[in-house]
Amino acid sequence: DRDHIKQAAVKAIRDGFTKYTSAAGIPELRQAIAAKLQRENGLPVEASQVVVSCGAKHSLFNTILSLFEEGDEVILPSPYWVTYPEQIKLAGATPVIVPGKPEDSFCLQPEKLAACITPRSKGLILNSPNNPSGAVYRRQTLQAIAELVLENGLWLISDECYEHLTYDGHKHYSIAALGEEIRQRTITVNAVSKAYSMTGWRIGYAAGPREIIDAISSLQSQSTSNPCSIAQKAALAALTGPQDQIADWRKEFDIRRRMMVEGLQDIPGLSCAYPAGAFYVFPDWSRLRGARTPQGRIIDSSGRMAEYLLDEARVALVPGEAFGSDDNLRLSYVTSRTTIQEGLRRLKLALGKLKPRG
Ligand code: PLP
Repeated sequence: DRDHIKQAAVKAIRDGFTKYTSAAGIPELRQAIAAKLQRENGLPVEASQVVVSCGAKHSLFNTILSLFEEGDEVILPSPYWVTYPEQIKLAGATPVIVPGKPEDSFCLQPEKLAACITPRSKGLILNSPNNPSGAVYRRQTLQAIAELVLENGLWLISDECYEHLTYDGHKHYSIAALGEEIRQRTITVNAVSKAYSMTGWRIGYAAGPREIIDAISSLQSQSTSNPCSIAQKAALAALTGPQDQIADWRKEFDIRRRMMVEGLQDIPGLSCAYPAGAFYVFPDWSRLRGARTPQGRIIDSSGRMAEYLLDEARVALVPGEAFGSDDNLRLSYVTSRTTIQEGLRRLKLALGKLKPRG
Protein backbone atom coordinates (compact mmCIF):
# COMPACT_ATOMS: atom_id res chain seq x y z
CA ASP A 1 0.00 0.00 0.00
CA ARG A 2 2.25 2.73 -1.31
CA ASP A 3 5.05 1.28 0.77
CA HIS A 4 7.56 2.49 -1.81
CA ILE A 5 6.87 6.07 -0.68
CA LYS A 6 7.66 5.27 2.95
CA GLN A 7 10.68 3.23 1.89
CA ALA A 8 12.05 6.17 -0.08
CA ALA A 9 11.82 8.34 3.04
CA VAL A 10 13.46 5.69 5.23
CA LYS A 11 16.23 5.36 2.68
CA ALA A 12 16.72 9.14 2.63
CA ILE A 13 17.20 9.11 6.40
CA ARG A 14 19.54 6.07 6.30
CA ASP A 15 21.58 7.64 3.49
CA GLY A 16 21.97 10.83 5.48
CA PHE A 17 19.93 12.79 2.96
CA THR A 18 18.99 15.05 5.84
CA LYS A 19 20.78 18.31 5.05
CA TYR A 20 19.80 21.50 3.23
CA THR A 21 18.80 21.12 -0.39
CA SER A 22 18.51 23.95 -2.89
CA ALA A 23 15.69 26.27 -1.78
CA ALA A 24 13.50 25.53 -4.81
CA GLY A 25 13.75 21.75 -4.31
CA ILE A 26 16.03 18.93 -5.49
CA PRO A 27 16.61 18.93 -9.28
CA GLU A 28 15.27 15.37 -9.75
CA LEU A 29 11.97 16.26 -8.05
CA ARG A 30 11.60 19.48 -10.06
CA GLN A 31 12.29 17.38 -13.15
CA ALA A 32 9.74 14.72 -12.13
CA ILE A 33 7.12 17.43 -11.57
CA ALA A 34 7.88 19.02 -14.96
CA ALA A 35 7.51 15.56 -16.56
CA LYS A 36 4.21 15.00 -14.74
CA LEU A 37 2.86 18.38 -15.88
CA GLN A 38 3.84 17.57 -19.43
CA ARG A 39 2.42 14.03 -19.35
CA GLU A 40 -0.82 14.55 -17.45
CA ASN A 41 -1.63 18.21 -17.97
CA GLY A 42 -0.21 18.97 -21.39
CA LEU A 43 2.02 21.74 -19.99
CA PRO A 44 5.41 22.07 -21.67
CA VAL A 45 7.40 23.31 -18.65
CA GLU A 46 11.04 22.79 -17.76
CA ALA A 47 12.40 21.91 -14.34
CA SER A 48 13.59 25.51 -13.93
CA GLN A 49 9.95 26.62 -14.14
CA VAL A 50 8.98 24.55 -11.10
CA VAL A 51 9.45 25.41 -7.43
CA VAL A 52 8.80 22.84 -4.71
CA SER A 53 7.24 24.18 -1.49
CA CYS A 54 5.90 22.90 1.83
CA GLY A 55 2.46 21.98 0.51
CA ALA A 56 0.14 23.68 -1.99
CA LYS A 57 -0.80 26.17 0.71
CA HIS A 58 2.81 27.33 0.92
CA SER A 59 3.08 27.46 -2.89
CA LEU A 60 -0.05 29.61 -3.00
CA PHE A 61 1.20 31.89 -0.25
CA ASN A 62 4.55 32.48 -1.94
CA THR A 63 2.89 32.97 -5.33
CA ILE A 64 0.38 35.46 -3.95
CA LEU A 65 3.08 37.34 -2.03
CA SER A 66 5.27 37.46 -5.15
CA LEU A 67 2.52 38.75 -7.45
CA PHE A 68 0.31 41.09 -5.43
CA GLU A 69 0.70 44.10 -3.17
CA GLU A 70 -1.22 46.93 -1.57
CA GLY A 71 -3.62 48.58 -4.00
CA ASP A 72 -4.08 45.43 -6.09
CA GLU A 73 -7.42 43.72 -6.47
CA VAL A 74 -7.47 39.94 -6.74
CA ILE A 75 -10.64 38.40 -8.10
CA LEU A 76 -11.89 35.39 -6.22
CA PRO A 77 -14.97 33.41 -7.23
CA SER A 78 -17.04 32.17 -4.29
CA PRO A 79 -17.45 29.67 -2.81
CA TYR A 80 -13.71 29.71 -2.31
CA TRP A 81 -11.27 27.72 -0.25
CA VAL A 82 -10.96 29.59 3.09
CA THR A 83 -7.25 30.31 2.75
CA TYR A 84 -7.31 32.41 -0.44
CA PRO A 85 -8.88 35.64 0.89
CA GLU A 86 -6.63 35.54 3.96
CA GLN A 87 -3.48 35.11 1.87
CA ILE A 88 -4.55 37.92 -0.48
CA LYS A 89 -5.01 40.18 2.57
CA LEU A 90 -1.66 39.10 4.01
CA ALA A 91 -0.08 40.36 0.77
CA GLY A 92 -1.81 43.73 1.42
CA ALA A 93 -4.08 43.28 -1.62
CA THR A 94 -7.89 43.27 -1.69
CA PRO A 95 -9.97 40.18 -2.48
CA VAL A 96 -12.88 40.96 -4.83
CA ILE A 97 -15.44 38.22 -4.35
CA VAL A 98 -17.63 37.14 -7.28
CA PRO A 99 -20.50 35.02 -5.94
CA GLY A 100 -21.13 31.78 -7.80
CA LYS A 101 -24.63 30.41 -8.29
CA PRO A 102 -25.91 26.85 -7.88
CA GLU A 103 -27.59 27.11 -11.32
CA ASP A 104 -24.12 27.71 -12.83
CA SER A 105 -22.80 24.73 -10.81
CA PHE A 106 -20.90 27.38 -8.80
CA CYS A 107 -18.56 28.09 -11.74
CA LEU A 108 -17.40 31.65 -12.42
CA GLN A 109 -19.23 32.94 -15.49
CA PRO A 110 -17.03 34.91 -17.91
CA GLU A 111 -19.51 37.84 -18.07
CA LYS A 112 -19.42 38.11 -14.26
CA LEU A 113 -15.64 38.19 -14.39
CA ALA A 114 -15.69 40.88 -17.08
CA ALA A 115 -18.06 42.97 -14.96
CA CYS A 116 -15.79 43.11 -11.93
CA ILE A 117 -12.52 44.00 -13.67
CA THR A 118 -11.23 47.49 -12.77
CA PRO A 119 -7.94 49.29 -13.45
CA ARG A 120 -6.73 47.89 -10.14
CA SER A 121 -7.43 44.24 -11.01
CA LYS A 122 -4.19 42.31 -10.93
CA GLY A 123 -5.10 38.66 -10.61
CA LEU A 124 -7.65 35.88 -10.51
CA ILE A 125 -7.61 32.66 -8.51
CA LEU A 126 -9.31 29.61 -9.98
CA ASN A 127 -9.75 26.29 -8.23
CA SER A 128 -11.09 23.41 -10.30
CA PRO A 129 -12.11 20.85 -9.09
CA ASN A 130 -13.31 23.15 -6.36
CA ASN A 131 -13.19 22.93 -2.61
CA PRO A 132 -15.92 23.32 -1.27
CA SER A 133 -18.46 23.14 -4.13
CA GLY A 134 -16.97 20.30 -6.19
CA ALA A 135 -17.36 22.44 -9.33
CA VAL A 136 -15.32 21.35 -12.34
CA TYR A 137 -14.85 23.96 -15.08
CA ARG A 138 -15.62 23.07 -18.67
CA ARG A 139 -13.00 23.69 -21.30
CA GLN A 140 -15.16 26.30 -23.02
CA THR A 141 -15.57 28.33 -19.83
CA LEU A 142 -11.83 28.17 -19.15
CA GLN A 143 -11.17 29.36 -22.70
CA ALA A 144 -13.42 32.40 -22.22
CA ILE A 145 -11.83 33.15 -18.83
CA ALA A 146 -8.35 32.86 -20.35
CA GLU A 147 -9.26 35.44 -23.00
CA LEU A 148 -10.37 37.92 -20.33
CA VAL A 149 -7.21 37.29 -18.31
CA LEU A 150 -5.10 38.09 -21.37
CA GLU A 151 -7.14 41.12 -22.48
CA ASN A 152 -6.81 42.65 -19.04
CA GLY A 153 -3.22 41.71 -18.26
CA LEU A 154 -4.14 39.72 -15.16
CA TRP A 155 -2.14 36.99 -13.44
CA LEU A 156 -3.96 33.72 -13.05
CA ILE A 157 -3.35 31.27 -10.23
CA SER A 158 -4.81 27.83 -10.97
CA ASP A 159 -5.08 25.54 -7.95
CA GLU A 160 -5.42 22.00 -9.33
CA CYS A 161 -5.01 19.94 -6.14
CA TYR A 162 -8.09 17.80 -6.84
CA GLU A 163 -7.36 17.21 -10.54
CA HIS A 164 -7.72 13.42 -10.36
CA LEU A 165 -11.11 13.44 -8.65
CA THR A 166 -13.78 14.08 -11.26
CA TYR A 167 -16.99 12.09 -11.78
CA ASP A 168 -19.90 11.56 -14.19
CA GLY A 169 -17.68 12.01 -17.24
CA HIS A 170 -16.37 15.43 -16.16
CA LYS A 171 -12.76 16.01 -17.15
CA HIS A 172 -10.11 18.20 -15.60
CA TYR A 173 -8.39 20.76 -17.87
CA SER A 174 -5.33 22.75 -16.95
CA ILE A 175 -6.06 26.28 -18.09
CA ALA A 176 -2.35 26.92 -18.79
CA ALA A 177 -2.47 24.15 -21.41
CA LEU A 178 -4.98 26.07 -23.54
CA GLY A 179 -2.30 28.12 -25.29
CA GLU A 180 1.12 29.68 -25.15
CA GLU A 181 -0.17 33.15 -24.21
CA ILE A 182 -2.21 32.03 -21.21
CA ARG A 183 0.69 29.83 -20.13
CA GLN A 184 2.78 33.02 -19.82
CA ARG A 185 0.23 34.47 -17.36
CA THR A 186 -0.60 31.37 -15.29
CA ILE A 187 0.95 29.85 -12.19
CA THR A 188 -0.29 26.29 -11.79
CA VAL A 189 -0.32 25.06 -8.20
CA ASN A 190 -0.60 21.44 -7.15
CA ALA A 191 0.67 19.03 -4.49
CA VAL A 192 1.17 15.40 -3.63
CA SER A 193 -1.18 15.89 -0.64
CA LYS A 194 -4.48 14.79 -2.17
CA ALA A 195 -3.34 12.64 -5.11
CA TYR A 196 -1.21 10.36 -2.93
CA SER A 197 -2.87 10.92 0.45
CA MET A 198 0.34 12.59 1.68
CA THR A 199 -1.08 15.61 3.48
CA GLY A 200 1.36 15.41 6.39
CA TRP A 201 4.50 15.25 4.27
CA ARG A 202 4.01 18.86 3.19
CA ILE A 203 5.10 18.85 -0.44
CA GLY A 204 3.41 21.08 -3.02
CA TYR A 205 4.62 22.98 -6.03
CA ALA A 206 4.09 25.93 -8.36
CA ALA A 207 4.90 25.98 -12.08
CA GLY A 208 4.83 28.92 -14.44
CA PRO A 209 6.81 31.69 -16.13
CA ARG A 210 10.46 31.63 -15.19
CA GLU A 211 10.61 35.15 -13.66
CA ILE A 212 7.72 34.41 -11.30
CA ILE A 213 9.17 31.04 -10.29
CA ASP A 214 12.51 32.77 -9.61
CA ALA A 215 10.76 35.37 -7.43
CA ILE A 216 8.97 32.61 -5.49
CA SER A 217 12.27 30.75 -5.05
CA SER A 218 13.97 33.90 -3.68
CA LEU A 219 11.12 34.50 -1.26
CA GLN A 220 11.29 30.88 -0.17
CA SER A 221 15.06 31.03 0.16
CA GLN A 222 14.72 33.95 2.64
CA SER A 223 11.82 32.46 4.59
CA THR A 224 11.51 28.68 4.90
CA SER A 225 14.48 27.50 2.76
CA ASN A 226 13.96 24.10 1.14
CA PRO A 227 11.00 21.88 1.93
CA CYS A 228 11.99 18.88 4.09
CA SER A 229 14.66 16.83 2.26
CA ILE A 230 13.13 13.52 3.37
CA ALA A 231 9.65 14.49 2.24
CA GLN A 232 11.07 15.54 -1.14
CA LYS A 233 12.44 12.01 -1.65
CA ALA A 234 9.06 10.57 -0.66
CA ALA A 235 7.28 12.89 -3.14
CA LEU A 236 9.72 11.84 -5.87
CA ALA A 237 8.87 8.18 -5.22
CA ALA A 238 5.16 9.02 -5.31
CA LEU A 239 5.35 10.89 -8.63
CA THR A 240 7.56 8.34 -10.37
CA GLY A 241 6.09 5.14 -8.85
CA PRO A 242 2.87 3.21 -9.63
CA GLN A 243 -0.17 5.43 -10.14
CA ASP A 244 -2.99 2.87 -10.09
CA GLN A 245 -4.27 3.80 -6.61
CA ILE A 246 -5.62 7.05 -8.03
CA ALA A 247 -8.20 5.25 -10.20
CA ASP A 248 -9.13 2.95 -7.29
CA TRP A 249 -9.69 5.92 -4.97
CA ARG A 250 -11.76 7.72 -7.57
CA LYS A 251 -14.03 4.69 -7.85
CA GLU A 252 -14.45 4.44 -4.09
CA PHE A 253 -15.00 8.19 -3.71
CA ASP A 254 -17.65 8.06 -6.41
CA ILE A 255 -19.58 5.43 -4.44
CA ARG A 256 -19.37 7.53 -1.28
CA ARG A 257 -20.33 10.67 -3.19
CA ARG A 258 -23.55 9.05 -4.41
CA MET A 259 -24.29 7.65 -0.97
CA MET A 260 -23.85 11.08 0.55
CA VAL A 261 -25.92 12.99 -2.03
CA GLU A 262 -28.74 10.43 -1.96
CA GLY A 263 -28.79 10.49 1.85
CA LEU A 264 -28.87 14.28 1.97
CA GLN A 265 -31.59 14.54 -0.67
CA ASP A 266 -33.68 12.30 1.56
CA ILE A 267 -33.57 14.83 4.43
CA PRO A 268 -36.47 17.34 4.42
CA GLY A 269 -35.20 20.95 4.24
CA LEU A 270 -31.94 20.15 2.48
CA SER A 271 -31.21 20.06 -1.21
CA CYS A 272 -28.04 18.73 -2.68
CA ALA A 273 -26.70 18.48 -6.23
CA TYR A 274 -24.15 15.90 -7.33
CA PRO A 275 -20.76 17.61 -7.22
CA ALA A 276 -18.64 17.02 -10.33
CA GLY A 277 -15.33 16.70 -8.51
CA ALA A 278 -13.17 16.76 -5.34
CA PHE A 279 -14.41 14.94 -2.21
CA TYR A 280 -16.99 17.27 -0.73
CA VAL A 281 -20.73 17.78 -0.97
CA PHE A 282 -22.20 21.23 -0.53
CA PRO A 283 -25.92 20.94 0.36
CA ASP A 284 -28.20 23.99 0.57
CA TRP A 285 -29.94 24.33 3.95
CA SER A 286 -31.64 27.70 3.32
CA ARG A 287 -35.21 26.33 3.58
CA LEU A 288 -34.47 25.68 7.25
CA ARG A 289 -33.20 29.20 7.91
CA GLY A 290 -35.04 30.73 10.87
CA ALA A 291 -36.07 27.36 12.35
CA ARG A 292 -35.85 26.82 16.12
CA THR A 293 -33.88 24.17 17.93
CA PRO A 294 -35.59 22.12 20.70
CA GLN A 295 -33.74 24.46 23.10
CA GLY A 296 -35.42 27.46 21.46
CA ARG A 297 -32.43 28.90 19.62
CA ILE A 298 -33.02 30.37 16.19
CA ILE A 299 -30.84 29.05 13.41
CA ASP A 300 -30.06 32.11 11.35
CA SER A 301 -26.68 31.29 9.86
CA SER A 302 -24.72 28.32 8.57
CA GLY A 303 -22.45 28.75 11.60
CA ARG A 304 -25.39 28.29 13.98
CA MET A 305 -26.54 25.28 11.95
CA ALA A 306 -23.10 23.69 12.15
CA GLU A 307 -23.03 24.33 15.90
CA TYR A 308 -26.44 22.73 16.35
CA LEU A 309 -25.46 19.67 14.32
CA LEU A 310 -22.25 19.26 16.28
CA ASP A 311 -24.09 19.48 19.63
CA GLU A 312 -27.21 17.52 18.70
CA ALA A 313 -25.94 14.96 16.17
CA ARG A 314 -22.23 14.93 16.99
CA VAL A 315 -21.57 15.46 13.29
CA ALA A 316 -18.80 17.87 12.41
CA LEU A 317 -19.22 19.83 9.19
CA VAL A 318 -18.03 23.21 7.97
CA PRO A 319 -20.50 26.12 7.69
CA GLY A 320 -20.74 27.57 4.18
CA GLU A 321 -20.12 31.08 5.56
CA ALA A 322 -16.44 30.14 5.89
CA PHE A 323 -16.34 29.74 2.10
CA GLY A 324 -18.42 32.85 1.36
CA SER A 325 -21.68 30.90 0.84
CA ASP A 326 -23.94 31.01 3.91
CA ASP A 327 -26.79 29.00 2.32
CA ASN A 328 -24.59 25.90 2.25
CA LEU A 329 -22.84 23.41 4.48
CA ARG A 330 -19.76 21.46 3.49
CA LEU A 331 -19.39 17.79 4.26
CA SER A 332 -16.43 15.64 3.33
CA TYR A 333 -16.69 12.01 2.25
CA VAL A 334 -13.12 11.12 3.08
CA THR A 335 -14.38 8.64 5.65
CA SER A 336 -15.72 5.10 5.59
CA ARG A 337 -19.10 4.17 4.11
CA THR A 338 -20.30 3.05 7.56
CA THR A 339 -19.39 6.40 9.09
CA ILE A 340 -21.16 8.19 6.24
CA GLN A 341 -24.34 6.13 6.78
CA GLU A 342 -24.28 6.76 10.50
CA GLY A 343 -23.64 10.48 9.96
CA LEU A 344 -26.58 10.74 7.56
CA ARG A 345 -28.86 8.94 10.01
CA ARG A 346 -27.93 11.37 12.76
CA LEU A 347 -28.30 14.43 10.54
CA LYS A 348 -31.80 13.37 9.55
CA LEU A 349 -32.77 12.80 13.17
CA ALA A 350 -31.36 16.13 14.38
CA LEU A 351 -32.84 18.18 11.54
CA GLY A 352 -36.21 16.48 12.12
CA LYS A 353 -36.26 17.99 15.62
CA LEU A 354 -36.18 21.59 14.35
CA LYS A 355 -39.38 23.64 14.58
CA PRO A 356 -40.02 25.44 11.28
CA ARG A 357 -40.06 29.22 11.21
CA GLY A 358 -43.34 31.07 11.95
N1 PLP B 1 -5.88 24.02 -2.20
C1 PLP B 1 -7.10 23.52 -1.92
C2 PLP B 1 -8.23 23.85 -2.82
C3 PLP B 1 -7.28 22.69 -0.82
O1 PLP B 1 -8.49 22.19 -0.55
C4 PLP B 1 -6.19 22.37 0.01
C5 PLP B 1 -6.34 21.52 1.21
O2 PLP B 1 -7.39 21.32 1.73
C6 PLP B 1 -4.94 22.92 -0.31
C7 PLP B 1 -4.83 23.74 -1.41
C8 PLP B 1 -3.74 22.69 0.55
O3 PLP B 1 -2.99 21.63 0.15
P1 PLP B 1 -1.64 21.25 0.93
O4 PLP B 1 -2.03 20.35 2.05
O5 PLP B 1 -0.79 20.60 -0.09
O6 PLP B 1 -1.04 22.52 1.45
